[in-house]
Amino acid sequence: MSKTIYATEDDLNRYRSLTETLQLQDLCVVGQEFHEDDTRLMLLCVPHWPVSICPDCGQVCTEIHDYPKQRTIHDSPIRGCQTVLVFDSRRFDCEHCQRSFTEPIRDVVPDCTYTYRLMVELANPRRKQDVATLATTYGLGYKLVESILLKAAQRKVEARSQAPVQVKQLGVDEIANRKGQGDYVLVLTDLQRRILLDVLPDRKQQTLIDWLKAPPPGINLSQLEAVATDLWAHYRQAVQTVYHHVIVVADRFHVVQNLNETIHKIRRDFQRQASSDEERCQLKGLRYVLIKDQSKLKQTERARLEQLQQTHPELYQLWVLRQRLHDWYEIDTTPQLAQVSLQTWIEDATALGLTHLDKFCQTLTNWQVEIVNFFRIASPVVLSKV
Ligand SMILES: [Zn+2]
Repeated sequence: MSKTIYATEDDLNRYRSLTETLQLQDLCVVGQEFHEDDTRLMLLCVPHWPVSICPDCGQVCTEIHDYPKQRTIHDSPIRGCQTVLVFDSRRFDCEHCQRSFTEPIRDVVPDCTYTYRLMVELANPRRKQDVATLATTYGLGYKLVESILLKAAQRKVEARSQAPVQVKQLGVDEIANRKGQGDYVLVLTDLQRRILLDVLPDRKQQTLIDWLKAPPPGINLSQLEAVATDLWAHYRQAVQTVYHHVIVVADRFHVVQNLNETIHKIRRDFQRQASSDEERCQLKGLRYVLIKDQSKLKQTERARLEQLQQTHPELYQLWVLRQRLHDWYEIDTTPQLAQVSLQTWIEDATALGLTHLDKFCQTLTNWQVEIVNFFRIASPVVLSKV
């Protein structure tokens, strides 16, 4: 299905105070329709964030696959009027692990047709009304009210209310807001819970420092242990400015991605310099093979690599090096031993004498502390998945 609700910047501004009053986390109100016949107020909403977090690998995703359906969600009444939130649910394609998922909306009870706010209100123990009265008062079906109360009892929503999110591992990712236009936003995630915490309007160092110093209500950074960033010194400095004790980890995904890009560049150079049609043919279609994990190689791809080992041993060695870096992350070891094997990797890579690869090795050397820190954090569950 395609998108049904569109909004302009003006719409967002016009309803901003209503969005804030309703304390919506993942939705923004952008319009309203009043239905006279059933006295229902429909609040049209759009997603608050340009991105979502993949529940499988915990990485930030920007690729929207489609809008599977329009959802209508019961919310607490406004000025005595039965209220529903209407929005398009979004399905994302994770560009990191290739799985697709429907974005969870934190304001809505999972797999239900009502908000947490409505559930809390109906289940308020001071209310002491029976299901039939509640159903009439709220203009909701008897069965729906019954299931809401049951759900509330199960979940003990009072306990859930307002307990701040204690973040121990923070992810900092920059994402191009509009592709190719150099307009970046900074996405902050809780790496252990795999949830989105905030999206900052730009990637300036000061913006991140301000956020780290005073995170929004509901986010507690007092027990922060580790921050994962890409290989940009600005972020490292920002974290170290505010939290001296926190371990900065160079995000695994970015390290491997950096190597993949280096491999692409070298492969292109080889293709350009090919001296015959036959050689050009040998180098065709290698783009993805050279950055593929051993376990995922098809029979034909294995054969190509074997052939490459004879014709272009340097390119074959690139595949081997990439696999070794992948395996390096998988091994459960101490930071000291990891440091030693990383050093060996750098020496072997340098021995190939390829300029682009030397540059990558320089990056590894500059960031070795943060790269090896991967092995220093308590439970690198999320950080270890690529
Ligand atoms: Zn994923």
